[in-house]
Amino acid sequence: SELPADPDDNNSCRSIEKAAYSWVTPCTTKATHIICCNQTLATSLGFDQQATKSQNFADLVSGNIRDPHIKSYAMNYGGHQFGQWAGQLGDGRAINLGQYQVLDSQQHVTLQLKGAGKTPYSRRGDGMAVLRSSIREYLCSEAMYHLGIPTTRALTLTLTGEQVIRDKLYDGHAAYEPCAIVARVSPSFLRFGSLQLPAVRGDIDTLQQTLDYCIRHNYAQLIPESGIIDKVVYLSWFEILCDRTAQLIVDWMRVGFVHGVLNTDNMSLIGETIDYGPYGWIDNFDLDWTPNTSDATEGRYRFGQQAYIGQWNLFQLANAIYPLINEAEPLQATFNNYNHLYNEKWLKMMREKLGIATNTDSQDNELVKSDQALCTDLETVLSTINTDMTLFYRTLADYSTRVCPQNLQQLQAHFTNCFYNQEEITKDYLQQLSEWLIRYQKRLLATEQDDQQRKIQMDDVNPCYILRNFQVQEAIELAEQGDYSKVLLLSELIKAPYKQQLKYQQFEIKRPDWARNKFGCSALSCSS
Ligand code: AMP
Ligand code: MG
Ligand code: MG
Repeated sequence: SELPADPDDNNSCRSIEKAAYSWVTPCTTKATHIICCNQTLATSLGFDQQATKSQNFADLVSGNIRDPHIKSYAMNYGGHQFGQWAGQLGDGRAINLGQYQVLDSQQHVTLQLKGAGKTPYSRRGDGMAVLRSSIREYLCSEAMYHLGIPTTRALTLTLTGEQVIRDKLYDGHAAYEPCAIVARVSPSFLRFGSLQLPAVRGDIDTLQQTLDYCIRHNYAQLIPESGIIDKVVYLSWFEILCDRTAQLIVDWMRVGFVHGVLNTDNMSLIGETIDYGPYGWIDNFDLDWTPNTSDATEGRYRFGQQAYIGQWNLFQLANAIYPLINEAEPLQATFNNYNHLYNEKWLKMMREKLGIATNTDSQDNELVKSDQALCTDLETVLSTINTDMTLFYRTLADYSTRVCPQNLQQLQAHFTNCFYNQEEITKDYLQQLSEWLIRYQKRLLATEQDDQQRKIQMDDVNPCYILRNFQVQEAIELAEQGDYSKVLLLSELIKAPYKQQLKYQQFEIKRPDWARNKFGCSALSCSS
C-alpha cells in the first residue's frame, strides 16, 4: 500500500491498495466517563462486575489502553452510496481492538471502538462520533438484539471529554458537541463493500483472501473436509447470505424498523443489522416513510423499499464475487431466488403477526394468494388513516373473534388508541376496517385456534415497546445536559420488548403530536 507521508503515522489518510485493513492506534482521550455498560454482554466476554468498574476496562473501551498484545486496525472497504459507486470508504472512525472468546461457547467476536479517532480511511472526517449519534447506536443495537433480530451489539457508551462542531446550530451559531465512543461487538464487521472494493480494483488476491477469511471464521460449517474453499463453497455461502439478508429485512418489516442508509458498505457479510445512523421506527404505518431527510425526495431507503434494496445490494455483491466463480448461471439462479425467498418469509411473518396458525394446508396456492391479499389489504387500511403500527397489532391481539365487526362504534372504541387523527376517523374508514376484520375473523375461524392462544402467539412477534424516535430524542436532549437517566431507562425498557409491564405503561403510547415530522436525520448527521 501507499506509504503515509509520515512513516510513523499509521493513521494519516490515504488510499490503501492491496490490503483489507491497516494497523492504527486509537486517539487517547482526556476525561473518559462510561455512561452505560452492558454488563450481561461484558460478563459473556469475561469482564465481570469488578472488571467493568476497573480503570483498565475504562481505558480499553475508550481507546486509551496501550497493550502490546493489542494490535488495533481499521478495515478497508468501498461501497455504493445511494446507488453510486463511491470508491474507497473504510473504517473512518472505527477501530478494531481484536477478538474475544464468548464464554461457554466456541464463538469469537471482535471488539470495535466507534469514534476513536482518525484512520487512513477518515477522508475529510475527524474520526469522532458525537454523543447523540452514539446514544442512538447504543440503544438501537440493543433494542434490535432483544427483539431477536441479528445485529452488532453495544458493550459500552463512553464520553471522551472531547468536543467537536457538527451541523447542529444553537441560536444560529455552530456549537460544540460532546464526543463519545460506542464499543461494539460482532462476530464480523465485514461488509458487502469489503469484497466490492478489491473486486472493482481487479485485486483478485485480496478479494479471495477476504472472502476466505470470512468463510473460515464465520461460516466454518461450509468448509469441506479437504479444507479447500472452492466455487461450490462460495456459491453456498452466497446462498446463505441471500437467505439471511432476506430474513433480516423481513424482521425489520415486522417491527417497523427503517435502516435509513442501506448503502452496500452498511450491509453485513454475516447478515446482521449494522451501522445505526439515520434510522427510525415506524409510528403511523407508512411504507413511504424514511427517517433520512436527505433521502426524502427520492425515498430510496424508505420503509417499503428495503426488500428491493436488499436485492439491489446482493446484485452488487454477486458481481463482486463473480471473478471467484467465473460462471454466471448458478450465481444468477441464487440471486433470482431472492424474491421468492423474501415473499415466502414475508408471508410467514405476516401470518404470525396476525396470529394465523399455519399447517401444511397453508402452502396451498389459493390460500397463499388469499392470505397475501389479506395482508396487503391490511397495509392499505392502516396507511389510509394514520394508524400506529405497534399499537395496532397489540390491540388486534386483544380483538375477540366473538365481537361483531359490523358494529362500527364498538370497533372505533376498541382501536381508538391506535389512530393518530381522531377527526380523520370517518364512517368510511371504519367501514374499510370493518370489512377487513370480517375477512380476518373468517380466516381465523378456519384455523381452529382460540382467541387466547392467538393472543399469546401474536404478542410473541408484535413488540409492545419499540425505540420510538421521539423517546430517544428526549433521552439525548437530557444527556446533553448531563442527565443520563432517560438513556438508562430506555436501555432497560428495550430488554423485554414483547412483555407488557405495568411499570412501562407510559411507553405504550403513540408518538405525541408535537413530535410529528420533527426528528428526521440528515445525511450530515448520519456521519455525526
Ligand atoms: P456511514 O454513512 O455512517 O456509513 O459512513 C460512511 C463512511 O464515512 C464510512 O467510511 C465512515 O467510516 C465514514 N465516516 C463517517 N463519519 C466519519 C467521521 N466523523 N470521521 C471519519 N470518517 C467518517
Ligand atoms: Mg457505515
Ligand atoms: Mg454510520
